[in-house]
Amino acid sequence: MTTLLEVQDLTKHYPVRQGLLLAKQVGTVRAVDGVSFRIERGETLAIVGESGCGKSTTARLVLRLIEPTAGTVRFDGQEVSGAALRTLRRRVQVVFQDPYASLNPRLRVADTIAEPMEVHGIGTPESRAARVKELLGLVGLAPFHAQRYPHEFSGGQRQRIGIARALSVQPELIICDEPVSALDVSIQAQVVNLLKHLQRRFGLSYLFIAHDLAVVHHMADRVAVMYLGQIVESAAKQAVFANPRHPYTRALLAAIPQPDPRRRGLVKPIGGDVPSPMNPPPGCRFHTRCPHARPRCKAEMPTLREIEPGHTVACHFAEVLPPHVAAAEDGIAPVAAQRLALYAAARARRMEGRERPEI
Ligand code: SF4
Repeated sequence: MTTLLEVQDLTKHYPVRQGLLLAKQVGTVRAVDGVSFRIERGETLAIVGESGCGKSTTARLVLRLIEPTAGTVRFDGQEVSGAALRTLRRRVQVVFQDPYASLNPRLRVADTIAEPMEVHGIGTPESRAARVKELLGLVGLAPFHAQRYPHEFSGGQRQRIGIARALSVQPELIICDEPVSALDVSIQAQVVNLLKHLQRRFGLSYLFIAHDLAVVHHMADRVAVMYLGQIVESAAKQAVFANPRHPYTRALLAAIPQPDPRRRGLVKPIGGDVPSPMNPPPGCRFHTRCPHARPRCKAEMPTLREIEPGHTVACHFAEVLPPHVAAAEDGIAPVAAQRLALYAAARARRMEGRERPEI
């Protein structure tokens, strides 16, 4: 595998201003604070965490929709800045959470999908129209849908249109920002299966932003867990789910609803609120909620370090924490397993032609 995207020490701080003409800076919101990761070609990296942890801001920084305060983004070995930005805009596309808000209600589907090709000067009007039909077929829609408007579609169909638009310029990396969280579970299954199918067919890489661990379990190759603007654990999916080493990752896994009454209460759910990113706690940012916190945690910020090959954790005591009680693939999430079964059934129905892709 070769590295497609490399992010180093990415940082976004927002000044908080008050007073006449907002002249006085009274604080700094540390939305993203020194985030580093890489994505190989054909790989899916999922970034997970609670709302407000900085995962969507990270995605926007990678896309340069907002300017970073510090840090570098390298795409295919080249630092993204200046002229390289235009190339990035074609080779990296995004699928947003809200498929309705991300589509222009005044544009027909054909124009919506063709727009990125026009912007990048790809093809002629005729070739673009042909490509639109091809893309509609790829995402499970029909050619006649090209002449309709977004309000004429269901949520799942609109997300398919968003995916077709992202594919129109043949990207290598797609940033999926909570792409299924606004959809019903049965529709989620269809869209997730579609994303996986497209990845296999075109060798796509995904940066998958999500808070639903069942979806992440299905989609990801590797997982990075974010808390208060920092990555606190990163590893292959199996390692994160079966052997989580950071107390925050364990708390996230514990928060997955347990349908099996024998497993309920094995792990205490995380308590307290996420501290303000304007005033993050000193030392380890998780110490105000961590059940294993010790005096050192308040005084010294843990660095992200490799405790096993490919498994990095930002916790002083990662090696000596008691074993995770649900530390087994079968124990991580019966909900995830149920969801996987649902996804597999949806895929099987679709392959047998018993289910129309659009609902
Ligand atoms: Fe908990 Fe301390 Fe580890 Fe932070 S460093 S996660 S407070 S044990």
